[in-house]
Amino acid sequence: MNPFIYKRATDPGDAVHEISGNRNAKFLGGGTNLVDLMKMEVELPTELVDITRLNLKSIEKNGGGLRIGALVSNTDLATNRMVMENYPVLSQAILAGASPQLRNMATVGGNLLQRTRCYYFMDTAFPCNKRVPGSGCPAIPGYNRIHAILGTSDKCIAVHPSDMCVALAALDAVINVRGPRGDRQIPISDFHRLPGDTPNIDTNLQQDELIVSVDLPPAPFAKRSRYLKVRDRAQYAFALVSVAVALELNGSRIQSARLAMGGVAHKPWRSTDAEKILAGAPANRQTFTAAAEAAVKGAQPQKYNAFKVELAKRAIVRVLEETASGKTGGVA
Ligand code: SF4
Repeated sequence: MNPFIYKRATDPGDAVHEISGNRNAKFLGGGTNLVDLMKMEVELPTELVDITRLNLKSIEKNGGGLRIGALVSNTDLATNRMVMENYPVLSQAILAGASPQLRNMATVGGNLLQRTRCYYFMDTAFPCNKRVPGSGCPAIPGYNRIHAILGTSDKCIAVHPSDMCVALAALDAVINVRGPRGDRQIPISDFHRLPGDTPNIDTNLQQDELIVSVDLPPAPFAKRSRYLKVRDRAQYAFALVSVAVALELNGSRIQSARLAMGGVAHKPWRSTDAEKILAGAPANRQTFTAAAEAAVKGAQPQKYNAFKVELAKRAIVRVLEETASGKTGGVA
C-alpha cells in the first residue's frame, strides 16, 4: 500500500476544508471498498480525511419522506422500521448485498461511491481506461460475462456494483452534498455517469464535495415496492441482473410505477420507457412483458453476456407479478 497522510475531520465544514487542499485526497468512511482498492494499488490517495466521527448518522422524517445521514450504516438503514414499512425495496436491496459484517461497516455515502468490480479494473497487471485513461479496455475483447448490456461505450463496459443505488433510483432519491462552493442537491438519476469517453469519472460529485445525506421523497408507489437480485450464488455475490420496482395500484390497474435495473449498466438503469407502459395499464402479465421488452430495448450485449437480456426480461416480469400481488419481505 502507498504511504498516505491521515487526518480526522471534526465536522462537515472541516472535512471539506481538509480535502479541498489536496486533489489526491479522499474521504474515509466505512472503508469497505476504498481500503481494499488501496491494498491492490488501484486507488492511490496521498491523504485520507476520516469522516467517521461526523454527526451524519441519523434517519429522520423529512417533509413526508425521510432524510438519511451519509454515515448511516447499511445495516442500520436496512433494519430501520420507517424504511422497512415505507420503502421496503430499499431495505431488501441492501440486505441482498455484501455480508452482515460488511453491511455493519459500509455507509450510505460509501455505497453511492462504490467502484466497479470489473476484474480488469481491479488487477493492475491489465490496462484499463477507468484506472488509467487511454490505456484500453481488455474487457471488450476479453471475458465479459458480468459486464454491461446498456449504455456502454467503446471505452468501457463496466457495471455499477451497488444494490442500494438501484433502489434509490426507483425511489427518486436526492443526494445532498456540501463543497467549498456551498451546498447543492443531485438527483440520483444525475449522480452516476455513463462511461462515454471518460469512464475514469464515475459520478458527478466533485472530488472536494462531501455527501451529507440522502432524501427519500414521499411517493404513492414506495410502499408497494420490491427488489429482485439474480446472482451466481445465494450470498455475497454481485448482481448479474437486479430489478427494483414500485407500483401504485388502483384496483387491478397501475396508477404509477418505477422500475430500475442493476448489473446491466455503468449506473443504476432507470427505465422510464417501461414505466410509461406500466402507468395506466392493467396489472397483468401482458403489461409486464411489454414493460420488460421496453426496459431492455437497445441492449448491446457482448460475447459472453447475451444471457443478461433474457434474464433481465424474466426478472422484471417476475418481480412485477410479485409486487402487484402484494408479496412483501424476503430477498430473492
Ligand atoms: Fe476498465 Fe471499464 Fe474496461 Fe473494465 S470495462 S477493463 S473498468 S475500461
